[in-house]
Amino acid sequence: MSATHAFDVVVIGAGLAGFRAALRSAALGSRVAVIERMPDFGGSSILAGGFFAFAGTDLQHSRSIKDTDELLRQDLLELGHGANDPALVEAYVKYQLEEYKYIVGLGTHFMELQPSSGHSVPRGHRADPKQLMSILDAQARAEKNITFFYSTRAQRLEKAANGSRINTVVTHGTAGEVNFEARQGIVLCSGGFSRAKDLLQVFAPHVRRSVPAGGLGNEGDGLKMAWEHGAAFADLGYVNGTFGTYPYPEADELPAVIFPVYRGGICVNKQAKRFMSESKSYKSLGEAVLLQESGIAFQIFDQKIMDQAVADVPSYNFRAIEAKGRIPKADTIAELAGKLDIPAHTLADTLGLYNRDVASGVDSHFGRTNLSHTFGNLAAIDTAPYYGFPSTAMLSTTYGGLRVNAGMQVLNIWGDPIPGLFAAGEIMGGLHGESYMTGSALGKALIFGRIAGESAAAA
Ligand SMILES: Cc1cc2nc3c(=O)[nH]c(=O)nc-3n(C[C@H](O)[C@H](O)[C@H](O)COP(=O)(O)OP(=O)(O)OC[C@H]3O[C@@H](n4cnc5c(N)ncnc54)[C@H](O)[C@@H]3O)c2cc1C
Repeated sequence: MSATHAFDVVVIGAGLAGFRAALRSAALGSRVAVIERMPDFGGSSILAGGFFAFAGTDLQHSRSIKDTDELLRQDLLELGHGANDPALVEAYVKYQLEEYKYIVGLGTHFMELQPSSGHSVPRGHRADPKQLMSILDAQARAEKNITFFYSTRAQRLEKAANGSRINTVVTHGTAGEVNFEARQGIVLCSGGFSRAKDLLQVFAPHVRRSVPAGGLGNEGDGLKMAWEHGAAFADLGYVNGTFGTYPYPEADELPAVIFPVYRGGICVNKQAKRFMSESKSYKSLGEAVLLQESGIAFQIFDQKIMDQAVADVPSYNFRAIEAKGRIPKADTIAELAGKLDIPAHTLADTLGLYNRDVASGVDSHFGRTNLSHTFGNLAAIDTAPYYGFPSTAMLSTTYGGLRVNAGMQVLNIWGDPIPGLFAAGEIMGGLHGESYMTGSALGKALIFGRIAGESAAAA
């Protein structure tokens, strides 16, 4: 016979969404179990670049950046191309500033503000995810209402004997098979499926050439568990890799991305031709690069852009990648083309046309108007030495997942809530729609984790 533990709320997954859900439920008086299949907390959250999409913060004010809820809402909807669920966008916008203040109040230090993919104004608030997760871990450990169960893998969800709602998580771990009964609610925070070959094959075969980068436990267990109970999915058709990673990582290397394109570089394929506007989201670039020969492109840039490298922002720390010998450098375009093994004449033509277009103010090929999204002015790439970084897409995040309502209740395929079941973070879809704003994945783990914790505690 399996042992049974009874709690008010059972949270599956000890990433950012799980921590936030647990802390919120516990603060509202619920006794909470957090079940994590790995021996330690973190998931993808602790591996992240640390960017959060917040608007109207004191940090932005201090830099005279005018950002508002309205602008954030507009950007999210514009990026989603009408495929995002407006109720989820609204929920994000409503709580984002409160959640920013909450984690700042706990001691989270936001180091830097960066404009990035999908931002009309610099909105990428960067924290150290290790610091943030350690702070939340300490908070949770100090909370008498929260108990952690590590190395414990949730396997199935079961309904109460009277069939009224899902109330049990069947787990397997070092203590053997253990059932966790939830009097109020079960919150799925088990992250995405970037490590699940079987689910990727079904939902996102187009990303099979990308470099895997998500948390090692992110095999889509929660999706399967909810699926068994009729859960509906959202946004799964839009899973894309993140552009900008080196295609030939060492074994066990944690892939990193860099974006010289968002400082004014261009992107060319093996034929030395541009293939889209480089100011698009890195998800769109990720999708496009995998369609190029060998799934590879080259970010081409010059010394002016290299001089904008930022040492403590990984995605702009071009020097760190250069130091690894991964960014060939040359005094002429022809020499650079030789080092990248792409046609020199075509690269010269591509750059020549691009620079003329920048001077005339019209990108005649792809209509690029800004550095990233609608931010920043284009400049000619004309200052030697020149650089080229071979880039492909990494699969860090799967974005789409369970369909939920604004209270984070998981919905079935008919649009009705599945009683007893909530979800937050990367396991759920609906916020992003077709594309993705930098910082909105960590943002949604935090914000929707809070809402899910609140809803479960009220159930
Ligand atoms: C390299 C990288 C860089 C990124 N950079 C950014 C960024 O800068 N900004 C941004 O917004 N987003 C970024 N992301 C995405 C973002 O980190 C994630 O979407 C977010 O952290 C997901 O949080 P989560 O709590 O939902 O899931 P996770 O943090 O992945 O946590 C899920 C947890 O559930 C556990 N779990 C899974 N299955 C089970 C099971 N059956 N039983 C028990 N536990 C289970 C996992 O082991 C994991 O610990 C990045 C991701 C990566 C990988």
